[in-house]
Amino acid sequence: MNLIQKNIEKLRDELHQHNHYYYVLDKPLISDFDFDMKLKQLNDLENKFPEFNDDNSPTKRVGGLVVKSFNSIIHKYPMYSLDNSYSKEDLEDWNQRLNKNLEVTDFKFLCELKFDGVSINLTYDNGVLIKAVTRGDGIQGDDVTENIKTIKTIPLKLKGSYPDKFQIRGEIIIDKNDFIKMNKNRISEGLEPYMNPRNTASGSLKLQDSSEVAKRPLKCFLYQIVTEENNFKTQNEYLINALDWGFNISNTYKLCNNLNEVIKFINFWEKERLELNFGIDGIVIKVDNLNFQQQLGYTSKYPRWSIAYKYKTEQVSTKLLSVSYQVGRTGAVTPVANLESVLLGGTYVKRASLHNQDQINKLDLYFDDQVFIEKGGEIIPKIVGIDLNKRDPSSKKIKFIKNCPSCGQNLIRNESESQHYCLNINYCPTQIKGRIQHFISRKAMDINGIGNETIDLLYSNGLILNCADLYELQREDLISLERMADKSIDNIFIGLEESKKINFERVLFALGIRYVGQTVAKNLAREFKTIDLLISKTYDDLLLVDEIGERISESIIDFFNNEFNMELINRLREFGIQFQINVIDEPTNDVLSDYIFVISGVFETKSRDELKKIIEKNGGKVSTSITLKTNFLLGGNNIGPSKIEKAKSIGLSIISENDLSNLIESKLL
Ligand code: AMP
Ligand code: ZN
Repeated sequence: MNLIQKNIEKLRDELHQHNHYYYVLDKPLISDFDFDMKLKQLNDLENKFPEFNDDNSPTKRVGGLVVKSFNSIIHKYPMYSLDNSYSKEDLEDWNQRLNKNLEVTDFKFLCELKFDGVSINLTYDNGVLIKAVTRGDGIQGDDVTENIKTIKTIPLKLKGSYPDKFQIRGEIIIDKNDFIKMNKNRISEGLEPYMNPRNTASGSLKLQDSSEVAKRPLKCFLYQIVTEENNFKTQNEYLINALDWGFNISNTYKLCNNLNEVIKFINFWEKERLELNFGIDGIVIKVDNLNFQQQLGYTSKYPRWSIAYKYKTEQVSTKLLSVSYQVGRTGAVTPVANLESVLLGGTYVKRASLHNQDQINKLDLYFDDQVFIEKGGEIIPKIVGIDLNKRDPSSKKIKFIKNCPSCGQNLIRNESESQHYCLNINYCPTQIKGRIQHFISRKAMDINGIGNETIDLLYSNGLILNCADLYELQREDLISLERMADKSIDNIFIGLEESKKINFERVLFALGIRYVGQTVAKNLAREFKTIDLLISKTYDDLLLVDEIGERISESIIDFFNNEFNMELINRLREFGIQFQINVIDEPTNDVLSDYIFVISGVFETKSRDELKKIIEKNGGKVSTSITLKTNFLLGGNNIGPSKIEKAKSIGLSIISENDLSNLIESKLL
């Protein structure tokens, strides 16, 4: 088995395990982000090396692990997902589509909360619950009837006059305070706390012993009736009646006469949701009239008559425990708030970046403050305010540290900058390690086989002081290290050898020159073609390059004026690292110069990166999101549904890999 295949197999094994921990055991071992990154890594490798294809790879089946002991049942009516919207404009677009499709404008909307739990489909025959099936992949799910019967908010027998046969859908949730109580108990029993209410609810449904399920504080809100009996005219009537039959219908829904009222509803819950005892991840808006719903029908993924509105940020309050300071590879020192662990947007948050001294001052942060936190872009939490009522009058203001926490040197802050820096560039341990870690990272030299822990290990054993030292490592040096298997050593050497093929623009990025990111590195490489020419340029010469301003220009000059850096470059060059542009990296022609492409999906023969390169080599542009300026959507398998929808809505052509080749060929003729 060759190394690539081994890497692929290893990633698959890891991801299978993480899937199991996440979905079945509800105890993720790694963060969602790390999981996604690993999955992406595997996906990239599989694209590059299709000869190692495996139909059971985690990339083929993200998450949807079927638990053997539950019967799998095909839904009589598929359980669609919902299209998402994020702004008033998105909703207006949707409304326009509705107007066009229905040819009327006087329809009403029913707005509901989007409960953040797991969906369930219940079947009632003659008023008796006969089946409960999870959503699964939307087409078929698991029969979890016995477990569902333990949930007290789900009626086993109905009252009043209900249709003979119908299905009803709802969301199984765990209230916030129940969740916290559960976790306190677990901690007191020496068990690990659960990650979030949604996963815990989902895991609970898959427990084999329904008496265990009964002990979990599960609840259910119902929101959608599905039936062929046409006794009702609107979603509103359904909800009113379902409540009478004994279902738990949240009284938070509202009938809105027009889009303005919908937006008012959205705005109202934007604040009010923080007071709710359960999590919501948005609002669901439905066309109220059932006839209209039928007329609108479904796309392959979503009902056209409904859309979810996702809130940008959720806010919670928690206590500031301490502030620590992280030193980056460029010496920039970032303050980080350590927080009392709090649930935000489905995960526990323990830390938030404070960015810099100004930010601390602007917040006017004191020790032990009670702070409000939000997730920017739903991923990285940040402190947005302070609850002054809860400040202890004796507590002290937070003062930025004076010395580098890694090497002890005085920190410097230039007047024009907001960041503090440790200028001990050549000897500050954290900076040294950070630079090497940057050098080996995926977007830089992409050295497989060496991870951040390996760098730590090598550095602390005195084997490396900079990235050039990596190329001087000898097998004997590594064998004596703890936890270093033969296989790992092989991987290190293979990775280092492979890195010699990495092109100049990435090498330039890998050097870690302050402010020189991927784009700037690319522009510099294309402009000057060799490192020698770049080094010979003056501050003013550099300013003439695309996207390079005074700050970057100065930083580049500084970098090459440092003799350590020059020595490093010379050594790397001796080891065979690319310091000049390869002819094939250059734009070859401009036949696509009139076109902007968006690439989406998974392709059969090439990776997305390779396709991007081909387009750029032919003078075309690639952008990440579809706008009116986009000319083509280059689509592979599994294109994001929102992308397809968007492309369709503006009449954008979706083309294949083959179409792209044909397009280029036809232009070249
Ligand atoms: P998504 O999975 O993001 O596409 O959103 C669709 C899911 O939202 C459904 O499968 C339900 O589980 C969930 N959901 C939560 N609240 C509602 C609601 N009021 N109406 C419809 N779906 C809801
Ligand atoms: Zn330092």
